[in-house]
Amino acid sequence: MNALEVSDLSFAYGAREALRQVNFSLPAGHFAALLGPNGAGKSTLIALLTRLYDVQRGDIRVGGHSLQASPRPALRQLGVVFQQSTLDLDLSVEQNLRYHIALHGWSRRQGATRIDAELARQHLTERRHERVRDLNGGHRRRVEIARALLHEPRLLLLDEPSVGLDPASRLALGEHIRQLCRVQGISVLWTTHLLDEVQPSDDLLILHQGRLVARGRADSVSQAHGGTLGSAFSRLTAAGAAS
Ligand code: ADP
Ligand code: MG
Repeated sequence: MNALEVSDLSFAYGAREALRQVNFSLPAGHFAALLGPNGAGKSTLIALLTRLYDVQRGDIRVGGHSLQASPRPALRQLGVVFQQSTLDLDLSVEQNLRYHIALHGWSRRQGATRIDAELARQHLTERRHERVRDLNGGHRRRVEIARALLHEPRLLLLDEPSVGLDPASRLALGEHIRQLCRVQGISVLWTTHLLDEVQPSDDLLILHQGRLVARGRADSVSQAHGGTLGSAFSRLTAAGAAS
């Protein structure tokens, strides 16, 4: 069963087309990089997947559930880390998570068990009482990931999670997330505009001017369009290549 299926998805802001007939599926347990320059439509896709915006044309299925027809079971399987951080800097790591436990309507005890598990999984147990303001960018991102995984979703969406991180933290975060896929079988959609965040064995989706101009294993896409990912990306996203 696919974790995610996107069919003929188009979206426009008024007259401005942001997504044009996007089609792809993401198998369970796969790490997919959605690569595209600024303005390609990455955040628009995330907004549609999380139902921030209503689908205008096309269909989205999460774990087999249609997002429009059965939003609750579909959303239940989704965890999301948005491009802009939404942590409260003045609260501790644990307080930021506890607030969400209340939103999910869990008991204190159930919530405490989930928080312990996710903090451990993100290697944050020892930082649970630190204020988020005192953490570095990489650790802050991990707090958001822990929070996104509290309800044990099967699909994790990360919109440009590496923005603002130094190169070493960027790569460490990528490794950490790929390990979640391998070990826990979670599926991940990771958006970025940076080529060096894509690894040869990743599923790769290249978005340009709202169109998917390539999809497949990253090394196959590179081979099919110029040899290296850099040359494939320049060729596929050259001005007007998508129109
Ligand atoms: P990305 O995340 O890849 O940088 P976006 O999804 O943010 O791309 O934007 C895709 C296109 O839609 C861009 O042309 C952008 O200017 C436009 N856009 C994004 N948000 C809005 C909005 N709220 N209103 C109008 N146009 C928007
Ligand atoms: Mg964006």
